[in-house]
Amino acid sequence: MAKSNVDVVVVGAGFAGMYLLHELRQNGFSSRVLEAGDDVGGTWYWNRYPGARCDIATTDYQYTWDPELFEEWQWSEKHAAQPEILRYAQFVAKKHDLYSGIDFEVRVEKAAWDDAAKKWSIHTSTGETITSRHYVMATGCLSVPKDPDISGTDRFTGDVYVTGRWPHEEVDFTGKRVAVIGTGSSAIQSMPHIAAQAKELVVFQRTANFSMPAQNGPQPADRRARLKADRIAYQSEARMSPTGVPMEMATVSALSVSREEAFSMLEKSWQKGELLQIGATFSDVGINRAANEVVCDFMRSKIHEVVKDPETAETLSPRGHAYGTKRPCMDTNYFEVFNMPHVRLVDIRKKPITSITETGIDFAGESQEFDAIVYATGFDAMTGAIVNVDITGKNGITLKKKWESGPLTYLGLTTVGFPNFYMITGPGSPSVLSNMMVSIEQHVEWIRDALLDMRAKGFDTIEPMPEAEEDWRVHCTDCADITLFQDTNSWYMGANVPGKPRVLFPYIGGVGRYRRICTEALQRGFVGFEMQGNGKHQMNPGPVRLMQPDVEMMLDAMAMLELPPIEAMSPAEARGFMDASATMRAPGPDVGEIVDGTFPGAAGDLEYRIYRPASQGPHPIVVYYHGGGWVLGSHTSDDPMCRDLCERADVMIISVNYRHAPEARFPAAVDDAWEALKWVAGNARQLGGSADRIAVAGWSAGGNLAAVVAQMARDNGGPALCGQLLLTPVTDGSRQSASYDENGEGYVLTKNVMEWFWNHYASTEDRKQVKASPLLAKSLANLPPAMIVTGQFDPLRDEGNAYARALSEAGVQVKRIQARGHIHTSITMVDMLPSGKSVRAKMASGLREFFVGK
Ligand SMILES: Cc1cc2nc3c(=O)[nH]c(=O)nc-3n(C[C@H](O)[C@H](O)[C@H](O)COP(=O)(O)OP(=O)(O)OC[C@H]3O[C@@H](n4cnc5c(N)ncnc54)[C@H](O)[C@@H]3O)c2cc1C
Repeated sequence: MAKSNVDVVVVGAGFAGMYLLHELRQNGFSSRVLEAGDDVGGTWYWNRYPGARCDIATTDYQYTWDPELFEEWQWSEKHAAQPEILRYAQFVAKKHDLYSGIDFEVRVEKAAWDDAAKKWSIHTSTGETITSRHYVMATGCLSVPKDPDISGTDRFTGDVYVTGRWPHEEVDFTGKRVAVIGTGSSAIQSMPHIAAQAKELVVFQRTANFSMPAQNGPQPADRRARLKADRIAYQSEARMSPTGVPMEMATVSALSVSREEAFSMLEKSWQKGELLQIGATFSDVGINRAANEVVCDFMRSKIHEVVKDPETAETLSPRGHAYGTKRPCMDTNYFEVFNMPHVRLVDIRKKPITSITETGIDFAGESQEFDAIVYATGFDAMTGAIVNVDITGKNGITLKKKWESGPLTYLGLTTVGFPNFYMITGPGSPSVLSNMMVSIEQHVEWIRDALLDMRAKGFDTIEPMPEAEEDWRVHCTDCADITLFQDTNSWYMGANVPGKPRVLFPYIGGVGRYRRICTEALQRGFVGFEMQGNGKHQMNPGPVRLMQPDVEMMLDAMAMLELPPIEAMSPAEARGFMDASATMRAPGPDVGEIVDGTFPGAAGDLEYRIYRPASQGPHPIVVYYHGGGWVLGSHTSDDPMCRDLCERADVMIISVNYRHAPEARFPAAVDDAWEALKWVAGNARQLGGSADRIAVAGWSAGGNLAAVVAQMARDNGGPALCGQLLLTPVTDGSRQSASYDENGEGYVLTKNVMEWFWNHYASTEDRKQVKASPLLAKSLANLPPAMIVTGQFDPLRDEGNAYARALSEAGVQVKRIQARGHIHTSITMVDMLPSGKSVRAKMASGLREFFVGK
């Protein structure tokens, strides 16, 4: 007799529920696993349509938690078919005696949290109520087929099939007139099989999809060899990769090579027949529409090569959505189907279905009779199976209600108001944007580790904190914002289900990065969670480290290059290194005009570069001081950002050089910066700008100089400044802020590099002078309005914020931008890190505001 009070109830016995059951047992937790179907396998139990197979090569789509399986189970194909994957699930279940822990043909209908008992009450279709301390939804992301939103579906008297609920017995279409509605992955896989049997096949397509040949065959030798040679290394590569499949990271932009070369590179990827390879051919397919369009063109050219009738080929060619923003498909002879004489394609955007009738389908003035209709209309993805269960958390709030405007989760694993409740591959986790076997294992192991840790520490309940959930929502949005997903109506965005909120449901930041974040949350003592039990109460608001995904990707790439630390170089070597790095960056946008010249510095002529907007002048002038720790850089070293600011703000940027340390130590740079400002103000009209509309700006050490000259201008009675834009400025030579410790390592500008800069620039005594540390000024009153930008992961963050606070307290108008998930250097990386774009847009609008009404 199964127990009705257990430690953990798990819903679902697909790969997630099966592995979780194993781990719970291994660790002495009592459990009940409840499954609606009559066998294990989940997806691979329900989706028995002809041609159903795995799109990820089975070398990668298999359990890793039982190493013996690699010897005991040999896949017959690269992309195993549904029956083989189901057999694999059954094999594992038998081997580990999982069947004995699963209740089949039991549907969970309701679950409610009892806050007094600190337990869940779970009600099933068999009328049983089970209580449990913890409740896990292993209900699958693609387990609830979506009802077709077509009128008359219940009228049809012929055979009806739904790909996601295919009959267990053989279906034979021989001699039949068949309609297939939908052209997503399931339709694309099944179509060649249906077409081979049917007398007549009509395919109703709303959206054409990108698909590539699976090139199925034996297991890929290269992957198998790598797996065999070093299984652990292969698996950890998969776990830390962006998608859960080991793959080389592309470094080339699709726009940096000729079209011919791009197509030849894509052809190589195409030949591999791997789902994720095409998109991974170039570094910018997911984030740049023009780069993505190169891939789209290639994929469309392939359709036109196969499909003989040009009109049909064009109808089958996806237009209007970026590659990858709808689930790309893999097929075996899908497009070839449309060369068969008995197959017809109907574009329902042009010829909408008006109704299903008793005998067939009415569409656009036509009425066609069918013997069978196959609905391949997709799934209520990611949240469908979760909210199908009536789940009530604390204070009587239902999950359905809470998620009305979009699923809110912390780490995609938990949600506020629902203690001891967990989701496997839920919304807000990489889930359907990953090799799901890797994601399932990671979630199961996280839940297991959390339960073990709670048990060890004597906690009964765990619940995410509202701030953590909000941080995660913002981070997920940040990640989504730099991609092309938002522009496409896809099931990833909930767009296929009427009334579903329109957000990107999965987390797009990458499998490896996500794993690091989840692990950090546990290892640092349940960061973002509130825990209770045995009279103890712990709140650990965190936060976990949430970096912009492109910034983190850059850091990963830099780590792989094992670059020498700047502080180990001489200034000359460091300058050479910086110059070499600058040749690899994107140039930035075009501006109206660029003019180079010289101005009289404090000890001789120095160079400047003017960036003039294309619009009619005279323009406001921004005197700009470059970054580089007073040691590195020049008037041209921040070229892409100066162009970007000029173009966005429609202002003239004059980037001025200054003498550098250690050859010219403090206060040489200040003296030159001051001379530059005076010279620009005195020559504003000749330079084509407005004499009464001048501001200063600078990045890093340049921000320091900009802040210092703004104070000098105030103290010397001019030049009058309209504003100061300080990007991650140095304001305090004492370097004692918390951000120095938090962010002193691993974010390009390190504590050691900063020490190296200061040592070259100024003595310990000099650092206490206001002209080195503007934060030390006796008064900051009467300074021009300021915009101060700080990076979350910058050692200089706190001193920038301290300066903003001090200015504000002195009555200066201050706008502060905290660049979430950014490091010291990332905001300046124009056209390389898309996440910096919105920060620079704010900086530009801040600059424009300085001059409003002036
Ligand atoms: C056709 C198809 C092809 C796919 N191909 C790939 C691929 O190539 N690569 C990849 O990574 N992923 C693929 N997926 C995704 C696939 O869903 C996952 O890889 C994985 O199988 C999910 O396992 P799971 O255990 O999380 O969920 P599922 O396998 O969906 O299992 C969930 C189980 O929960 C049960 N359940 C749900 N609600 C209840 C309830 N209220 N009460 C009781 N039981 C319930 C269901 O009956 C189901 O058996 C594919 C999905 C489909 C549909």
